[in-house]
Parts: sequence; structure tokens; C-alpha cells
Amino acid sequence: MALIDNNRAKIVLRGFVFSLGVLGALAADLGKTAEQPNILFIFSDDHATQAIGAYGSKINETPNIDRIAADGAVFLNSFCANSICGPSRACILTGKHSHLNGFLRNGNKFDGSQTTFPKLMQQAGYQTSMIGKWHLSTDPTGFDHWEVLPGQGSYYNPDFLQQDGSRKRYEGYCTDLITDLSLTWLKEQRDADKPFMLMCQHKAPHRNWAPHPRHFALYQDEDVPEPATLFDDYSGRSGLLKQNEMTIRDYFYWSHDMKFHGENLFPESFKTGHRNSNYARMTDQQKHVWDAHYEPENRAFIEKMKAGELSEKQIVQWKYQRYIKDYLRCIAAVDDGVGRILDYLDEAGLSDNTIVIYCADQGFYLGEHGWYDKRWMFEESLQMPFIIRWPGVISPETKSTALIQNIDYAPTFLELAGAPVPAEMQGRSLLPVLTGDCEPPSDWRDSIYYAYYENASVHNVPLHDGVRTGRYKLMFYPRTREWNLFDLEKDPQELTSLHDDPNYAPILRALQQRYRDQRSFYDVNSAVIPATRGDEPGWKQRDALLTKRAKQGGDTVRLAFIGDSITHAWEGNGKAVWDRSYGGRDAINLGIGGDRTEHVIWRLTHGNWDTINPQVAVLMIGTNNTGHFMQDPEQVAAGVKRILDILAERSPGTQVVLHSIFPRGRTPFDEKRLNNTAINDRIRLLADGERVHWLDIGNTFLAPDGSLSEDIMPDALHLSEKGYQLWAEALEPKLKELGI
Ligand code: CA
Repeated sequence: MALIDNNRAKIVLRGFVFSLGVLGALAADLGKTAEQPNILFIFSDDHATQAIGAYGSKINETPNIDRIAADGAVFLNSFCANSICGPSRACILTGKHSHLNGFLRNGNKFDGSQTTFPKLMQQAGYQTSMIGKWHLSTDPTGFDHWEVLPGQGSYYNPDFLQQDGSRKRYEGYCTDLITDLSLTWLKEQRDADKPFMLMCQHKAPHRNWAPHPRHFALYQDEDVPEPATLFDDYSGRSGLLKQNEMTIRDYFYWSHDMKFHGENLFPESFKTGHRNSNYARMTDQQKHVWDAHYEPENRAFIEKMKAGELSEKQIVQWKYQRYIKDYLRCIAAVDDGVGRILDYLDEAGLSDNTIVIYCADQGFYLGEHGWYDKRWMFEESLQMPFIIRWPGVISPETKSTALIQNIDYAPTFLELAGAPVPAEMQGRSLLPVLTGDCEPPSDWRDSIYYAYYENASVHNVPLHDGVRTGRYKLMFYPRTREWNLFDLEKDPQELTSLHDDPNYAPILRALQQRYRDQRSFYDVNSAVIPATRGDEPGWKQRDALLTKRAKQGGDTVRLAFIGDSITHAWEGNGKAVWDRSYGGRDAINLGIGGDRTEHVIWRLTHGNWDTINPQVAVLMIGTNNTGHFMQDPEQVAAGVKRILDILAERSPGTQVVLHSIFPRGRTPFDEKRLNNTAINDRIRLLADGERVHWLDIGNTFLAPDGSLSEDIMPDALHLSEKGYQLWAEALEPKLKELGI
């Protein structure tokens, strides 16, 4: 076969093992360029499948996005790995889950030095371009050309960051501008002799949903249908659902979201603050057109409110209409842009050798569960639209049920480019699916793993993770250690968790095993993943206090104790001993009850260690990793190692006394004590005797028969005053040795 004339082509061929016939046809049709198809990745922000015609939308039409589907395939089981903007993008670029690409939550900074698919495509001969919303806090890497919005960017008259470090402001509408810039690059700026990979990434339809005036008339005289769960009461699922701060009822801003001017007239119904920054950027002419649309509706609403004519339910319904209409109008501009680009591909004769993908960074709640926004593992935001057209390979109007995820895109693009897929990438190339009539091959995955890390943040969605199979979904909330189980076939709206339904007990057990297997397969070790407990008010307060303490102490701090409740309680049962032993020695207590290694990792990198550089740190941590869910000793040891690495990085001169985790449980055969012992066997190896000094004082607390007495550890875990005295005495020689 003529195509097998270089190594790259051979690698491409491996992806075609299921369909050599297709490849032959492709080669015959397209000649040599078939080796490396162009890839056009059109990506929007927060565009839910419920608002795409090809996914069966009941509320809008997307004729141009549907053109891609008509010529290709719609993936019905396409999911994100972490349902929020920045993390989804990082998963796409790296082919890895968040815990390995390091971008766990918005506010993180993407490490652009890591391996990403655009870099490898460049090496494979592609010209790469990134235009639009980037949202990863550091400059793009791996792109020959880029022009991106700073942060979230603006709908009106947006600035774009330039490759030379400058900013350029364009007058106009962001969605249209991103389309224009993409077309300009395709037409005039690229090297036509090379295959291209263009990422055209829209800001729309992200909050705050500012449409172009040409779409104001859409839905003007009609109500958009409401979702069935607009008034969800959150019963039958984890109690954490009720704590969410993303309801249409309570969490829309008067100005920013709802587009009113002036002071909030109804603070009991709308949030105050957060002005509509898009309006502030508009020209006088733009403002005039904007106001002509919104103000009559706004005045009518205000009059009704003042007259007391609207019930609480009707106010929610009004907000839903304001929100959904703006959201759908923003999508209309995205759809226009898709049409313009598809037209250009046709005109330029590029359509046959260009794979076109339309997707979005995650799904979104369009009033389902009473929400806007994303984050939760429930279907509407877990789902990620994925529509792909590949002429000659994917049959028109195909629907695929293969379970795919955004971590799969990188290996897919690399295989398409004929570039090797690095082993570190966790996703799977979709080529065997795409070339097999979009049917998943027999060894394809039958479940996906999801994890959300941005707890203690806007919208108050808790840390959770889980697995989803074709039919079931299992979610785990670490804070409350709750499992929620849904049978999506019987309960597609996910209104009732079946975790305690005896009929589902075998399914629950099987899914829990699947969950553990998936976490193991993807190398998820919660002990090393920085985690805040800032969603617990007591913890948040204590963490802030410790940061304040560290700030006040600053350079004068010579000795720092780091740990959990056993360290924390130097301020409780241990107070008198502390005052005697460390009162005059410039010591600081950085303990918080209940903390595990991952929380200490968070604290040391989020304020607790920013201002101090002590001579000695005393570290004792890990017993809550055991207590929480008997975490594997190897994993906990990795958490302790991470803490030591952070200390080395931040305070290379600090000597660390690494304590063995104290014994717990009454008898030597206590299961949790044995787990702690197994952790100790591993972490003792982390001591080098130079910077890290191992100090095992466990026997100090034990009777000769190995039992723990109540007068030393009243609850067989925490120390009495006598216990603290023993700790201080056992530690003292080491402190002396280290010059404290
Ligand atoms: Ca998003």
C-alpha cells in the first residue's frame, strides 16, 4: 500500500486494523494527504447537550452544529473527567485526569511544560493554532499561532492576549470575533503545505450570557419549556445537595446575570453585587441597542414585583426564562460561527480531508435540579457534547453509545497525526471506535471515572467522585462518606439514590469494586491530592487562624509542629506541657483535628507555610488516612513524602523530625494500629538523617504487653496530659540535638 512509506503512516495504520478497507478507500480518494488529516476542533464553553439539536434538544435549534452530526457521528455517552472549565481543558491537552495533570480546579495554573498533544502534533509536522478562550492561567504552549482571551474574556469588545505579550482589543462580539480570527488564520496565516490542527474555542455560552443583538428576537414572544426538575427539593440524595449555592431561585445576581441596571430593588429575590461587566465595556451605540431590548421587559417585571403580583414560583420562572433565553441566544451565535467555518471548508476544498469536531468543556444545568452552572456528577454537567465528522470514514447520521471521555481526545489526535501516544496519557484513542462504524470494540471501557475537586469555592459543590457505566452511576462524597447510587434507566433524572435499597445491594457492591478498580487504574491517590476542608466552617476558621499565626510569627518562628488533632490538642490536653516545654522557644502549632495528609498538603501550599522558615519542623500525620477508610499504607506514605517534598522545596534549611504515626486502638491487634504500623514501615525510609530525622516514640505510650492505657490515650487515639508529657520528654533530646 502506497501509504506505508514512512514511520508515521505505519503508526496511523495500527489505528486502522479494524478497517483496512476504509483506509484503502480513503487513500484512493484522497491521495497522500490522507496520511495526516487536518483537525478542526470547535469548542465552546458550558454548551450542554440539552441545547443541541443533534442531541434532541427540546428548547432550541442548532442547524449548523447539526450539519456536522448529519455528516458524521453524535456520541451519546461522552463525558468529562472533571466538570469545570480549566480542568476540562487541561484533561483535553494532556490526555490525563486532573490529579495527574495538576489542574484540579479553576485558579490553578497549568504547567505548560508538561507533555500535551499540540506539542507532539507539531513534532509530527502539523501546524497548530489556538484561538479564543484558553483559561489555563499560563500562556499556551505547543501552538505555532495563538490569540486567546485573558481569563474568562468578555462578550463585548474583548481583549485578546497576543503571542508577543501585548493585548489587543477588538470592537465587536466575542463569538463572531473568534470565528473571524479562526477564518483569517485558515485563509491567510497558516502554511498551506502543512496539515493543520486548529482549536477554535468560544467563550460562549458561559455565564453571564450576553447575546448579540441579532439574536434578541429569538424566543422573544414565547416561553422556553421548563425542565421537569426545576423545583427539585434535593430529597432522596446526599444532604450535601441542599447546601449548593447554584440555584436559579437564590443565586442569580440582579445586574450580572439578570441584566438590570441600578440598585437591586428586590434583595430577597436577587443577589446584590457583581455588576454586569459586559455592559460597562459596550459602546454607546451597543448600550442603546441593548437597553432597547432589555429595559421594557425589565420595567414590566419590576412593576409586577412592586405590585406584589408574582408568587415565589413565578419569580423563579421569570428568572429561568431570562437565563435560558440569553443562554440559547449566545448559542445561536456559536452556531452561526460553526456554519461560516463549515462553509469555508467547503469553498476551499478542505472538507474532505478535515476532521471536524464540535464539543464543549462540559455540560450545564439548564434549570435541571433548579440549577444553572455545572460541577456535579449528575448527567447534565457530566455529559460533554462530542460530534465528529470524518468524510469517508464515519458514516452520515451515526449515533455512538461508546463511553468516551475528554482524556481520550489527545491520544486520538496523536494517532490521527501518526504520532506516537505517550504511555503517560490515560485516555484511549478513539480511532478503533471511529473506524468501526462508531461501535465500541469488544475491549472498550464499560465505565468512566469522574472526580470534582473544587470544593469550598463558588457554588459550594462538595468534593466528590464516582463511576458511571452504561446504566448506573455511583457517586462518593468523602466529607460525609456517603455513597449515592442511581439507576439511570429507571431514574434518568437522578432523583433517588438507591444505595440503601436492598434490591440494589449486589449492584452497589459491584460498583464499589468498580470504583476502587478505576481509582487504582488511573492512579488516584487521595493522600497526595491537595484538598481543602474549607467547606467545613470550623476547619476554615482554624486554617485562617494558623495562617495568621504564621504571618505574625514570621521569621521568629524556630519550631513548627505539623499534624492533625493530636498536634492540634497541644492547645487542649497538652496545653500545660506545651507552655512548659515550648512556651519560650518560638514554637507554632499547625495542627488541625481530622486532617489527613492531603489537607496538610493543601495548607502548606495555601498560607500556613508562606511566611515561616523554622529551624525545625515536627511532623506527625496519617492516622486519619487510616481512620477515614483504612487507606493503603503505600498511598499514605506517598502523602507523607509529598509533605516532606513541599517542606524541602519551601524551606530547604528546615530540619524535619518525622514521627512514626502514634499507635492507636487498645490492643496490638487493632486493625487501625496495624495499618499505622504498615505506614510507619514505609515512611521511616523517607528519613535521611540529614534533613529528615526519623523518631519513633510509639513504645513510649504502650504498656509492656502492647496495650494502650486509658490514662495515656483515653479514647485509644488522642493523648491525655500525661501522654503529652511523654511526647515532650521523648522529643526533647532530638530537639536539643538539632539546636532548638
Ligand atoms: Ca465551562
